[in-house]
Amino acid sequence: MKKIIIAIDGVSSTGKSTMAKDLAKEIGYTYIDTGAMYRAITLYCLQNDLFTNGEVDRIRLAEEINYIDITFLLNPEIGKPDTYLDGINVENEIRSMEVANLVSQIAALGFVRRAMVAKQQEMGKEKGIVMDGRDIGTAVFPEAEMKIYVTASPEVRAQRRFDELKAKGENTSIDEVLKNIKMRDHMDMTRTESPLCKADDAIELDNSKMTIAEQKEWLLQKYYDKCRD
Ligand code: C5P
Repeated sequence: MKKIIIAIDGVSSTGKSTMAKDLAKEIGYTYIDTGAMYRAITLYCLQNDLFTNGEVDRIRLAEEINYIDITFLLNPEIGKPDTYLDGINVENEIRSMEVANLVSQIAALGFVRRAMVAKQQEMGKEKGIVMDGRDIGTAVFPEAEMKIYVTASPEVRAQRRFDELKAKGENTSIDEVLKNIKMRDHMDMTRTESPLCKADDAIELDNSKMTIAEQKEWLLQKYYDKCRD
């Protein structure tokens, strides 16, 4: 069967990654989490003292951006890819609230986006990928054969992310998570460089009232429908 590009965009904490990963596994495609790439750059800035009072040193980051190595390696135990920053597995660190609070500022920088988009386009050039993010169907692969735009209410998303963080032992509150989600939605939708928006040809899914299994089924069905086109 002809391989295609599947772009899954949408607001924060909608479970896009879970849907995308499950679909990729089911149909034998490569999954790429582009949010993890922006999170890894943010972690790099934290580890290398590029932040002063919450503001990043743009000049240094611009000089170093092309030397930051971000890769994905399949974790055989869970059957899903882990994120590596300069050869070190950072899958857990990039999911912290500290990174979540700073990532949208990093993702708004034009030179960061250009560097990440170039990597993403390279990763997808052979097709057969499911890529999730904010600008995949609009900027990275505007010609993607299948585009999905996922939303859910901020309260539902905050509860899901809070449960996830709590299970990992992170000490946070639901209010803090909700505040972070709203702040990231706002920054991602209003930035000048490829703001988050639904592509005209994307199918919209509000998954506020859906279980993970229902979302998986919905997405798989959309994929099979696309294959029949
Ligand atoms: O998907 P995730 O929540 O991990 O993404 C973290 C942040 O990275 C988003 O809030 C957004 O600021 C940024 N991002 C982006 N473009 C993408 C993917 C993520 O700007 N394609």
